[in-house]
Amino acid sequence: MTAAHGLGWPGQPGQEGAASGDEVPPGAGPTGQAEPTGPDPASAGTAAGRDAARGEWPGAPWPGGEPGDDIVRPPGADGLGWPSAAPQPGLAAGMVTARPGGAAPGPAGFAAIDLGRGGGESDVVIPVVAEPVSDTPIARAARAALAARSGSPAWPRPRACRIITIANQKGGVGKTTTAVNLAASLSLHGSRVLVIDLDPQGNASTALDVDHRSGMVSIYNVLVDGQPLSGVVRPVAGIPQLYCAPATIDLAGAEIELVPLVARESRLVRALAGFDSTGLDYIFIDCPPSLGLLTVNALVAAPEVLIPIQCEYYALEGLEQLLRTVDLVRSHLNPTLTVSTILLTMYDGRTRLASQVAEEVRGHFGEIVLRSIIPRSVRVSEAPSYGQSVITYDPGSSGAQAYLEAAREMAHRNAART
Ligand code: ATP
Ligand code: MG
Repeated sequence: MTAAHGLGWPGQPGQEGAASGDEVPPGAGPTGQAEPTGPDPASAGTAAGRDAARGEWPGAPWPGGEPGDDIVRPPGADGLGWPSAAPQPGLAAGMVTARPGGAAPGPAGFAAIDLGRGGGESDVVIPVVAEPVSDTPIARAARAALAARSGSPAWPRPRACRIITIANQKGGVGKTTTAVNLAASLSLHGSRVLVIDLDPQGNASTALDVDHRSGMVSIYNVLVDGQPLSGVVRPVAGIPQLYCAPATIDLAGAEIELVPLVARESRLVRALAGFDSTGLDYIFIDCPPSLGLLTVNALVAAPEVLIPIQCEYYALEGLEQLLRTVDLVRSHLNPTLTVSTILLTMYDGRTRLASQVAEEVRGHFGEIVLRSIIPRSVRVSEAPSYGQSVITYDPGSSGAQAYLEAAREMAHRNAART
């Protein structure tokens, strides 16, 4: 695919600006990944916190690699950011060792626990099963994080730019989170991606750390004033092949301002027609939680709709109305429109309800439901406060891995069809 020089797209991605991860805590999602705890609360949400979270990968301290850590560093693991540890005779990789000031290391295959009688005397010796490094959750998370970080292998890119509207009039089901994280996943694996924020809340712009203060030129000016889309597209810092057309709060008035305008449902598709997208592989359009003119514009502008469905009881309510709207738009305004993808989000594996909802959705929609399910994940919800996707914020976390897998599935499914 040729680069869109007219837009001044930059070259191929470097790999800068990803976040270091955090420790990997308990609470596995459907991907089987352990879920990490939060970052340093002192720096959370601050500019310093953001900078720290964007620290260079190779030098970033590996989470859980602090003094007093329980894990013996695997030999040669320094490349993963482990602090180099002197070899500890008698302990195989993956074994539990004593904390400083606690028990002394025992013979091979055992961990000695000091019950506090003093003198360093060990009271209980627990046999420890030496687990191969490659099977430990931390090793898996580290490998996954490195793979995400390196962007290899590259995934197949579509022949032509895929324009995908992410819609569901129900609020808070993960539309924005899905747009941002699929976009980040795909761009880190070789695609060039634009996220169009079509929601006056501007959440996608916030998550991608793109300036969207009121009064700035934004997607509002494209829709209402007919300004060119290329004039509002901004690069996303830290992910070289990712771009965002931000939304400001001004867009809140657009639902009303669009009403008297000519071809009010087709303002976005016209803007896209005048936009050179030849250098792009994907355009994701993040919709507001309504079926108003903004969402209709998004449905008219894209051949594909992706519906995120939260794995909760009420999630299915209103879906019928959304599908009816898609049918209406297809029959009157956009004959190529199809619901191509459904993504199950915020899955809580501890509840039967979540699996029942997932089963019901799969039974109803079949093949278009992605196999990958997004688990409820603290890391996913934390990432936007750092102006990041979870893919860069904590690539080894269960949420990041699930979004990476969903994006991989989307890329490969499309490649298999074409
Ligand atoms: P709206 O309809 O208001 O635009 P939305 O459908 O775009 O909402 P999001 O903003 O993506 O939904 O998500 C709603 C909230 O849930 C956000 O605070 C987000 O961080 C959180 N969230 C999304 N996905 C997950 C997840 N997998 N685990 C935990 N929290 C999540
Ligand atoms: Mg949203």
